Amino acid sequence: MDQSIGSYFDEFSVPAEVAAFVDRTIGHFIDGHEIAASTDQIDLIEPFTQGKLTGLASGSAQDVDLAVKAARKALAGPWGKMPPLQRQKLILRLAEALEAETDFFAHLEAIDVGKSISDARTIDIPGAVANLEYFAGWTSKLDGRTTGAVALPGETLTYTVKEPVGVVAVIVPWNFPLQILSWKLAAALACGCTIVCKPSELTPLSAMRLAHLATRVGFPDGVINVVNGFGQVIGQALAAHPGVDKLSFTGSTPVGIAVGKTALDTMKRLTLELGGKSPVIVTDKANLDTAATAILSGIFMNSGQLCDAGSRVYAHASVHDELVERLRVGAKNLPVGPGLDPDAAITPLVSETHRKRVLDHINAAHAEGAVLVTGEPMDGNGRHDGILLPTIFDRCTENMRIFREEIFGPVLGVARFETLDEAVERANSSAYGLAAAVYSENVDETILLARRLKAGNIYINAHGLVDPAMPFGGLGASGFGKDMGPEQLDSFLSTKSVYTQLRN
Ligand code: NDP
Repeated sequence: MDQSIGSYFDEFSVPAEVAAFVDRTIGHFIDGHEIAASTDQIDLIEPFTQGKLTGLASGSAQDVDLAVKAARKALAGPWGKMPPLQRQKLILRLAEALEAETDFFAHLEAIDVGKSISDARTIDIPGAVANLEYFAGWTSKLDGRTTGAVALPGETLTYTVKEPVGVVAVIVPWNFPLQILSWKLAAALACGCTIVCKPSELTPLSAMRLAHLATRVGFPDGVINVVNGFGQVIGQALAAHPGVDKLSFTGSTPVGIAVGKTALDTMKRLTLELGGKSPVIVTDKANLDTAATAILSGIFMNSGQLCDAGSRVYAHASVHDELVERLRVGAKNLPVGPGLDPDAAITPLVSETHRKRVLDHINAAHAEGAVLVTGEPMDGNGRHDGILLPTIFDRCTENMRIFREEIFGPVLGVARFETLDEAVERANSSAYGLAAAVYSENVDETILLARRLKAGNIYINAHGLVDPAMPFGGLGASGFGKDMGPEQLDSFLSTKSVYTQLRN
């Protein structure tokens, strides 16, 4: 661990057990054990200090093969034979153990992602606990159905049986490493599947800790495996492996398309949760206090590294100027600082490479004629702590990159509209369809707009609400399939139809 990180840890009194967990080479977790990294290692960089936290195993296709074999063995072994109620107990024990380690995990996420430790404590970890608790309850309710055949002659008994789909490869991004993992893992475990997870090589710590916890609370070996390394190696090997039955991927649209094509070669079941460019409509009937507060949170929470970020605001001409002013003041007042600072809301982006990518989008917005309201000037502020200031541009149009491309950083674009028809048409003009938000105090208006907007998730007078009982997923370039909600269960189950011809 670099000296700079030691001082950073001292300043924010990072617990000794967290430092000890981090300050060692991180391997893979396969068949119930952490196995050492081979000689190939990736430097794990802490986003605020830009110092080296530790080395991370850079796995290979052989490591993937070992993990898939362990997962297949567990499926055929005690896990596959376990009565559902016992599986439910284990998932609840994992939820309890995770909840007891909320502070530990919050530190890991703040150190790994650079995100606000307060958000990690109140959003990421409780969100993951809630997912496990919710899906634990489904374990004992995955029934098939008995149905009378409607066209067959003679006496028959026909029924369906739900079976686990098998080994699930889970590929997750770096913005909510634990929470998004839990979106997939909880339902997969409830359905009786086993898992091989590939976290982003930028943020592997919470997945590794969760795998350790699972073993500690009694999960059989091989049920949860984690293979670390680069997406192009580990992710690709998982997508291609014939021993994997289902691939559940969350990440960018281009990588999702590539991974999906590979997965189809071996006929894997597929869920793709991809990027977004979510519109926000503020009508002339909006409560601007509510709207400004929720819009700021919907774009600047997690420093804008949000898949459903409300990044395109369409404000009615009659409220536009006042809304922009409220957004400007709100953005300027957001406290900026390192992830471990409990008071900081805007924290470093996950990596210097990503910060430069976001800066490139900001420069494009300046160059294309969007008008800066607050935030980053052309070519950035020259800070060296990974942070980009919350940035708002006005007078954006659909032919500008800021309104077309996913930025995944603290950058908001605003435009004004005259009629609701115009707002809906412009909102729906994106290739993405992950989320959309509507601000209005008129109930009929909100419901009618919710019907007309093309997106998998609609927020009314709020942004970014997530609940385990509600399915989350997009349309168009935002992918297909759902995480969470009862709708997710079938993606981890196979339905078998059994026909019995009865003889008199
Ligand atoms: P990427 O698509 O770059 O990566 C996602 C995951 O895929 C990572 O684990 C990555 O590994 C892996 N990967 C990369 N290349 C390959 C490959 N060729 N084959 C298989 N796996 C690969 O996304 P980011 O991590 O940058 O995350 C940001 C993106 O995620 C944004 O587009 C965002 O919208 C989306 N996202 C979508 C959500 C949703 O629910 N719809 C939620 C959260 C984020 P590695 O990091 O090692 O390269």
